[in-house]
Amino acid sequence: METKLIFEKSKAGRRGCALPSLDVPQKPIEKLIPPEFLRKDEPLLPEVGEVEIVRHYTHLSHKNVGVDTHFYPLGSCTMKWNPKVNEALSALPGFARIHPYQLEETVQGTLELLYLTGEYLKEIAGLPAISLAPAAGAHGELTGVLIMRAYHLERGEKRTKILIPDSAHGTNPASTTICGFKPVEIKSDSRGNVDLAELSKNCDRETVGLMLTIPSTLGLFDNNLVEIANILHEKGALLYMDGANLNAIMGIVRPGECGVDVMHFNLHKTFSTPHGMGGPGSGPIAVTEELSKFLPVPIIIRKKDGYALNYNLPKSIGRVKTWYGNIGVIVRAFAYILSLGPEGARRVSEIAVLNANYLMAILKKHYYLKYDRFCMHEFVLSGNYQKKYGVKTLDISKRLLDKGFHPPTNYFPLIVEEALMIEPTENESLETLNAFANAMVEIANEAKESPQLLLCAPQTMPIGRPDEVRAAREPVVRWRQK
Ligand SMILES: *Cc1c(COP(=O)(O)O)cnc(C)c1O
Repeated sequence: METKLIFEKSKAGRRGCALPSLDVPQKPIEKLIPPEFLRKDEPLLPEVGEVEIVRHYTHLSHKNVGVDTHFYPLGSCTMKWNPKVNEALSALPGFARIHPYQLEETVQGTLELLYLTGEYLKEIAGLPAISLAPAAGAHGELTGVLIMRAYHLERGEKRTKILIPDSAHGTNPASTTICGFKPVEIKSDSRGNVDLAELSKNCDRETVGLMLTIPSTLGLFDNNLVEIANILHEKGALLYMDGANLNAIMGIVRPGECGVDVMHFNLHKTFSTPHGMGGPGSGPIAVTEELSKFLPVPIIIRKKDGYALNYNLPKSIGRVKTWYGNIGVIVRAFAYILSLGPEGARRVSEIAVLNANYLMAILKKHYYLKYDRFCMHEFVLSGNYQKKYGVKTLDISKRLLDKGFHPPTNYFPLIVEEALMIEPTENESLETLNAFANAMVEIANEAKESPQLLLCAPQTMPIGRPDEVRAAREPVVRWRQK
């Protein structure tokens, strides 16, 4: 169906709702608002009836490809199904309507929830101290790196560089740079692990630490984790774990027991909360006892007679967020953890890993797999076999849209050419996994026999192939009357 802009549906005089006529004297607007704040021209608003506006936006929402409508195997993002009951819980007025300036004694329930969420996350991490303040994964990284910096400075050491594997998420070098450190790339070995010789060569008394994603963005668990921690600790450096991929290991591996000093969680990936389009997130960080005094303030503590916010941490790196974190996201995580329990949390990871390995086993016969070993919750294929037919990973992904699937992550991580990073998550049924696998196999055949089908895709979407760079650099968000 053709989509008109809401402005094109506008008819002068139409209204969404009718107000009763005034029963008080009318005052000119100039008397109420100082002239400098008054606009010169009428605002450009569409004039439409209520039913038109509801249908307009409902139709638009149906053009979206999202987790509520489609399988969404976007690797590295853990676009898993989020129980709707968690939405209802976080919207309860007792959580949604409290004000951060309220006195502690009036928000004891929320403080208890935050405290307990922290306790559960510490248990999952195997680390003794936590802050729920950071607003997203990258913000957790920033907080964690600032803590590592504070740690070295307190010991009188001015270290300058942070080691980052070449398979890392782009936020790792970004956080490093923002904190004033130099990111140094560490090569992966032929199995996709951190190359230990490279690590030893680069790890010295200038090294703040290593930022390691576990499992990595290749979907691989680095078997040398404990050895990596030892190499760092020998040189007085710290091990930072990017925990965005915790969906693969929660309840199975406790990072603190493997030598991790600092880690962040992505509550909005592993622990419920719909995300995407930069929506609200939460990136708590857990640390060792030794680093706990540097955590950002305030920290939630339990006292004899209830819960309180502790600002008295003289060595703290300070505040990293207004108020106490994105509470709505934490409420969802709390509900999610409680509804699963310890066995359930472990089961989530086991099934996420099983689903990924199931798909990988089918698809590696049709797509090149650079690191051919058991994967964790995601795996990275490559469109390299298909290149000889003149099609690229982008074309494969566009064709998937025609077959009713959101594409996987494309062209990331950078160390796999023509990368297709697939993360099915634990929620999907065998039928859905099979349907996706069939579509991918069909596309591999089409690439060989009629590549034009891929090059012209998508045919079923409202738009075909927008100029993605231009759409981001020069967005047209204002309607102009012709
Ligand atoms: C998503 C992700 C991040 C960043 O998290 P945000 O919440 O998007 O800031 C960092 N590292 C990895 C491995 C990720 O997948």
